[in-house]
Amino acid sequence: MASMMQPQIILLKEGTDTSQGKPQLVSNINACMAVADVVRTTLGPRGMDKLIHDDKGNTTISNDGATIMKLLDVVHPAAKILVDIAKSQDLEVGDGTTTVVLLAGEFLREAKPFIEDGVHPQNLIRSYRTACNMAIEKIKELAVSIEGKSLDEKRSLLAKCAATTLSSKLIGGEKDFFATMVVDAVIAIGSDDRLNMIGIKKVPGGTMRDSFLVNGVAFKKTFSYAGFEQQPKKFLNPKILLLNIELELKSEKENAEIRLSDPLQYQSIVDAEWNIIYDKLDKCVKSGAKIVLSRLAIGDLATQYFADRDIFCAGRVAEDDLHRVAAATGGTVQTSVNNVIDEVLGSCEAFEEKQVGNERFNIFKGCPSGQTATIVLRGGADQFIEEAERSLHDAIMIVRRAMKNSTVVAGGGAIDMEISRYLWQHARNIAGKSQLFINSFAKALEVIPRQLCDNAGFDATDVLNKLRQKHALPSGEGALYGVDINTGGISDSFANFVWEPAVVKMNAINAATEAACLILSVDETVKNPKSESAQGEAAGGMGRGRGGGRGRGMRRR
Ligand code: ADP
Ligand code: MG
Repeated sequence: MASMMQPQIILLKEGTDTSQGKPQLVSNINACMAVADVVRTTLGPRGMDKLIHDDKGNTTISNDGATIMKLLDVVHPAAKILVDIAKSQDLEVGDGTTTVVLLAGEFLREAKPFIEDGVHPQNLIRSYRTACNMAIEKIKELAVSIEGKSLDEKRSLLAKCAATTLSSKLIGGEKDFFATMVVDAVIAIGSDDRLNMIGIKKVPGGTMRDSFLVNGVAFKKTFSYAGFEQQPKKFLNPKILLLNIELELKSEKENAEIRLSDPLQYQSIVDAEWNIIYDKLDKCVKSGAKIVLSRLAIGDLATQYFADRDIFCAGRVAEDDLHRVAAATGGTVQTSVNNVIDEVLGSCEAFEEKQVGNERFNIFKGCPSGQTATIVLRGGADQFIEEAERSLHDAIMIVRRAMKNSTVVAGGGAIDMEISRYLWQHARNIAGKSQLFINSFAKALEVIPRQLCDNAGFDATDVLNKLRQKHALPSGEGALYGVDINTGGISDSFANFVWEPAVVKMNAINAATEAACLILSVDETVKNPKSESAQGEAAGGMGRGRGGGRGRGMRRR
């Protein structure tokens, strides 16, 4: 037994701290604070962007917390937890990723002096959890429902939420333009849960104002063969055949071995090959479809054949595009052209192949099943369009959330200040140490408005004092006041339509508290002895004794 325990102690790599107790905790907290400091400046409408380039030379410019965290490649085991919560916030609600990291970092920063003074982490954890639950209850109480409004009203309310999300992004200058687009797209797909029903296509060139929404499907023209130019490029109410088969002349000599005794028989083989493909093409034409799309190649023979019969075709259509066409037009993807009945054909009001920038696009509009929308994004640099896509993704998620949960809270730090005030007030009635801990939780929440000010170049202390005073008014009339990003003062965020879905805040506070508690509850890090010994052995030297020991251990089994 003793010999099995021993390796764990020697195995800790040199310089791995003392790796136990208080110093370990403090070092974990420091690592998390360092990570939070990286994303700190990206928060809010005046937040800065980060340019990250990896060893392969790819550069990404982003303002999105989750994206930055992912690209940072954090190796510190404790700080990795922050990366994970940013990711899960992204998946769960789609926005608030910077907020969640920042909050977690701030909770830990507030906890640090207590830990250093010898407070037991469990006491802190307990108080943080209580405070978190109270905060969430308070958000639920403060949230305003937008349920029961007419579609037009709802549309404009949702657009406000989307605009708040977009205001912190590179495309913030055009936030209203894109917010309307996002809301239209989300409303178009209705209650469909599949996010990929909203396609985003990126076409470099032009300005972002040239971006547009297709109420239906759009995808880039696929590779085409001779004869394609003679095909019609515009249809009204066409029938659409969707295939997952190759329409190409296949010479069977690669697939089969055929022995011939008479050279004349060779012709019959060739004929058979031609007959097979002509038979397939004929069936496609007979189905009555005016547009034939296939996931696999449509060769030159087929292209010409269709062109002669005024049919449009496209081969090698990407799988998700084909699925979206199927969903939108009500068609079904076929794996054979035998028995193509009318029911499997899709239809739409208008089809067109059209020039967008330097690319040609196949656009299907007025699809009967609705349920899909495609945003064609334009813009200068690749990095710019990619960041625009990520920003739109945030906005889309937010609008979907707001549609489902449809309660919103005031943004711009207003909700954070209000919860903070509420917790301070509550803490006054608590006797004992936990009063201090709840106070520090409350103080940590102020990081959001403070950072919004810092990032905008305002005097954070000044603004925060004003906010505290406003929120402390006994009448409660200041509850909706947040940072006014335009004037550097404070204003009623709710009245200014700086809104956020309540679920974003609730999830952010919850996840940040959980992460902070998790990190506080760790007081020892043990590195996996196995990987460590592999390293040791590779380096030769000190691994010897242990290697022998484990060898015996294995044999014993
Ligand atoms: P996250 O990744 O956490 O969503 P953002 O960079 O999108 O971070 O910043 C979101 C914060 O910015 C929220 O707290 C939101 O209330 C605030 N915010 C957004 N628009 C405005 C605005 N026009 N005025 C003040 N605050 C705003
Ligand atoms: Mg955001």
